[in-house]
Amino acid sequence: MISFIAMLEKMFEERVIRLNHKPEDIEGSYVLYCMEASQREDFNHALEFSIYKANSLKKPVLVAFFITDKYKFSNQRYYRFMIEGILKTKERIESRGIKFLILKDDFVNGSLKLSKNACLVVFDRNYLKTQRAWRRKVSDLCDVATYEVESDVLVPVEYLYQKSVPYAYLYRNALEKVLDRFLVEVDTLQPEIKSNDLDFNFENQLNFDNVEDFINSLNIDKSVKSVENFYKGGSDEAYRLLKDFIERKLPFYKEKRNDPTTDYTSNLSPYLHFGQISPLKVVLEVFKSYDREDENVKSFINELVVWRELSRNFCWYNPYYNQYEGIPTWAKETLENHVSDKREYIYSLQELEDAKTHDEYWNAAQKELIITGKIHNYMRMYWAKKLIEWTEHPKKAFDIACYLNDKYALDGRDPNGYGGISWCFGSFDRPWQERKIFGKVRYMSDKSLAKKFDVKNYLRRFVK
Ligand SMILES: Cc1cc2nc3c(=O)[nH]c(=O)nc-3n(C[C@H](O)[C@H](O)[C@H](O)COP(=O)(O)OP(=O)(O)OC[C@H]3O[C@@H](n4cnc5c(N)ncnc54)[C@H](O)[C@@H]3O)c2cc1C
Repeated sequence: MISFIAMLEKMFEERVIRLNHKPEDIEGSYVLYCMEASQREDFNHALEFSIYKANSLKKPVLVAFFITDKYKFSNQRYYRFMIEGILKTKERIESRGIKFLILKDDFVNGSLKLSKNACLVVFDRNYLKTQRAWRRKVSDLCDVATYEVESDVLVPVEYLYQKSVPYAYLYRNALEKVLDRFLVEVDTLQPEIKSNDLDFNFENQLNFDNVEDFINSLNIDKSVKSVENFYKGGSDEAYRLLKDFIERKLPFYKEKRNDPTTDYTSNLSPYLHFGQISPLKVVLEVFKSYDREDENVKSFINELVVWRELSRNFCWYNPYYNQYEGIPTWAKETLENHVSDKREYIYSLQELEDAKTHDEYWNAAQKELIITGKIHNYMRMYWAKKLIEWTEHPKKAFDIACYLNDKYALDGRDPNGYGGISWCFGSFDRPWQERKIFGKVRYMSDKSLAKKFDVKNYLRRFVK
């Protein structure tokens, strides 16, 4: 029989790294988990690792979540979705006897203040530059040991490759060989010492049960409206969508996932982005109901695991992942050879943002983004590709794609977004037949939309 310790080691295997070499302080009052990327109570390796460490030190766990209105992308749309989720997560974590503080502070300041009385600090993992820098800064400036625990992918990126991988097939081949080893349930540990009653009298502590009051207390951009009629935040909603996907949509996924007039994808990307559901849990649930060799399952795993984790590999190893400079050399060269090609239309950022182009399909995709907070994957490719055609330089097109996607997409500001936009500019792809403006970068036309699906039907949904 597998021992308890061996079981824990298996659960955390390859997922935990030390971010500094400072000692754990056994005189500290608690083990601190600064939650950021994995905003959930279940299937959260960082939370379970915190409990495991706290139990071995005979200390309680304190979980902290920091909210600032100074973040570049603080707007009503994201914050509503995130707060809907975090209030539930707080309730669940507190029901396990663990104090959960929501503090109005930035991540670095807030973590540093709480680290002063901590034995050690635990972070979850985020693959983006800014959030990585926050963790590094806290690790450098605080006095105790810091750990980072991966809970955002099935196979930790460094385990698979120590460099950026240029093609999905390479990632897929490597993943397939090791996947089973990482298909390990995340056990729920109980804290031996409860922390609910610990007294933290911070001025900047936020205590709200009500999402509206919470949002109103923050000085955020309220011009990007919330989209709760389309996506409601929180793990419960993520599980409802997952159940519906498994029961009703997955049997048709391969055939219908590229048709934006039907609704046969999971719609889980906003929940995965905020860490409200674990991708590992999603895969284990799918495997409970279907054969792994089923074509629809393979197609879904190809998106959720291969492409999603390849995007994380891209952001981890390519410092220019959110810039035009990060696309492959052949793609930059070919695009630049065609910079002086005549463009029939050039649009300003404002015209694009307002969906005022001559192309009704593109306008519909932009309206889908503004109205619902998400564009269907197939239209997303078309949407980004057209920016290359309608701006003076592909660098400008790249920046506009990131700006609009990060500002309006609920799942934006995510490695998938930077990977997806870069794909439209040639990353992870091969050269195609040369043509004007795009050079050898793959082109998409409105005619190709009409061949794939009933594009007029798509228009009816988003063009009033
Ligand atoms: C220009 C462009 C921008 C994009 N921006 C984002 C973004 O900001 N955030 C985001 O999560 N995805 C982005 N994608 C990828 C993809 O469009 C979305 O993940 C997908 O449409 C989400 O819908 P879903 O959850 O119903 O997907 P499903 O088809 O149900 O797929 C399940 C999950 O797999 C992952 N996935 C699916 N397709 C991809 C892909 N191509 N690359 C990486 N992961 C994928 C997502 O996590 C998704 O939730 C972008 C793609 C392009 C071409």
